Amino acid sequence: MTLSVLYRGPLSGCNYSCNYCPFAKTKNTREELKDDAAKLNRFVNWVENNPDIQFSILFTPWGEALIRQSYQQAMQRLSHFKHVSKVAIQTNLSCRLDWLSEVNKEKTALWATYHPGETSRRKFLNQCARLDELGISYSVGVVGFREVLPEIEALRKELPAQTYLWINALKKEENYYTPEEKARLIGIDPFVPHNMVHHASLGKPCRTGHTVISVDGDGTMQRCHFVKEHIGNIYDPGFRSALFPRACTNATCGCHIGYVHLDHLKLYELYKDKVLERIAQ
Ligand code: SF4
Ligand code: SF4
Repeated sequence: MTLSVLYRGPLSGCNYSCNYCPFAKTKNTREELKDDAAKLNRFVNWVENNPDIQFSILFTPWGEALIRQSYQQAMQRLSHFKHVSKVAIQTNLSCRLDWLSEVNKEKTALWATYHPGETSRRKFLNQCARLDELGISYSVGVVGFREVLPEIEALRKELPAQTYLWINALKKEENYYTPEEKARLIGIDPFVPHNMVHHASLGKPCRTGHTVISVDGDGTMQRCHFVKEHIGNIYDPGFRSALFPRACTNATCGCHIGYVHLDHLKLYELYKDKVLERIAQ
């Protein structure tokens, strides 16, 4: 049995202050961090104690988790379990990277987002170069605000050609991009059209709830981050009975971490074994 788990614990603080984000420059208290670390440790122990499942894990924290030793250590531990195929995390890549020398590099990957205005292009590229030196697989992404288009193009030029750069397209406002801007975005990320639409998903088969689940710090299972219904708890010995094929109950799905699991989009063929870290092959 294989299972991809998107884990999101209670941690919510971030060292960056992106103006569109509710977690900008928020700080967790010492107690909250302790609680988050204990929940994370319980999750890692649970993975360890279920060796008959072949796991892939993506951490999707609300804030920035990799500045916390608890997440660095969790990734180190998970990457060395035989029954873990992949451990990946969404990060702003601001953390120190020396801890990555202790991970199993074959199984570790980063989903690294560049936030212009929060760090310099040079600093971000230096971090990417360090990942290349360490042999760690990663994707780079940017939120596609119209005003940062020249910056995204400059980043594309300076990144190694083999590094996939994805763009999260702005979708709230209809016709946010002009046709010319759309063409520029596609010039940077040929797969951005998948992210430019809210995919009609109601009634469509989606792997979530069967071979993919979302889990919070208390072990509560949802099929995905976007359908809020609780389907079970991983710490309940009978949790496997909650996993079966089912159709989406939401009207649409607009985030990569969701629609990538929709069967009819066939995006597993594009991302192959790098679905979780979002590296198009
Ligand atoms: S880096 Fe991410 S979590 Fe932090 S403020 Fe920016 S968008 Fe929010
Ligand atoms: S299509 Fe999106 S919203 Fe629907 S179940 Fe799948 S991941 Fe969740």
